[in-house]
Amino acid sequence: MTWHDALQGIEELEDAEFDAGLLTEMERHAARNRDRLIRFSTPTFKEYESSELSSCGKNTFPAFSITAAGCALMCDHCEAKILEPMIPAVKPDILDARVRQLVETEGLQGFLLSGGSNKRNEINYSKFYPVIEGLKRDFPQMRIAIHTALTDRAGAKEMEASGVDVAMLDIIGAEETIRKVYHLDRPVDDFEETVAALCETSMQISPHIVIGLHYGRILGEENALDILSRYDTKALVLVVIMPFYAKPGTFVTPDAHEVGRIFLAARQRLPDRQVLLGCARPPGMHKRVTDAYAVMAGLDGIAFPADGAVAVAGVTGRPFHQAHACCSIKLGESGATTNIATLASTSCAA
Ligand code: SF4
Repeated sequence: MTWHDALQGIEELEDAEFDAGLLTEMERHAARNRDRLIRFSTPTFKEYESSELSSCGKNTFPAFSITAAGCALMCDHCEAKILEPMIPAVKPDILDARVRQLVETEGLQGFLLSGGSNKRNEINYSKFYPVIEGLKRDFPQMRIAIHTALTDRAGAKEMEASGVDVAMLDIIGAEETIRKVYHLDRPVDDFEETVAALCETSMQISPHIVIGLHYGRILGEENALDILSRYDTKALVLVVIMPFYAKPGTFVTPDAHEVGRIFLAARQRLPDRQVLLGCARPPGMHKRVTDAYAVMAGLDGIAFPADGAVAVAGVTGRPFHQAHACCSIKLGESGATTNIATLASTSCAA
């Protein structure tokens, strides 16, 4: 039975439409991916429940914003809305107190540090680094991820020295997107140079590509993949633009089949890396189709998998595993293949 036929037997995908040509192409590469373990992550800072997997219900990996809901860039796709659900921690002592409290009350095991950026797409975390140092000293097992935004070698070294474990950033492959969507006057090369600077540290690097960032169109994603293929980042996180964060009428929802093609391109260009689908993507049937493509393209993990994703793993014969953690970090795991930055909680220009 072909994958196309097998998908029709999955109840959750009853009304789903797939691109037959793309399915055939994905199935052609099935043998290459059959033994790849797929990890279904259910991070804890968002309510989650699917018919196939459940949330652990604890706040063990929250996200903090050092600017609360403020951001100077106000990118067209976000307008700082991604910061709203984060815990505001605008002063170092607030961050310190909240983290220590959550360790006691919720068993916090790590956190994501984020914030809105300045007009140059930079975030100045300097005054928060002593807090990170103190937390790492008192809780050596704590895992700390950070949205780096654009930075240079000195900035990357400062981050590393404080004890940050995982550095996350978005890679944009089209100058037009940087200018129009981000309102930012910086070249694609600055994103590449940030990756290069971060790769010179011992931090785990977790780059993201936002598929459809150019108002829902595919533009520059393949260039972003090419950039990453030049650096040893171990992992890549793909997310799909969510137009409902933008002003009505400015973005279209990216075609799910085109998204699936980017998944396949990523798998082919980065065959030895963890390629993961992060939390952000359009909901509903679009998400079911997207997640099915992610499993069939051979991605290594999916955050908040849609109903049907587990069944699709069954169709492809791939083994799977459920993890409760920020998808950026595999908590409590070690070893060359597992101790890596994997997914990301959210994607942000910052
Ligand atoms: S993506 Fe990041 S930089 Fe852009 S508006 Fe949102 S928070 Fe600000």
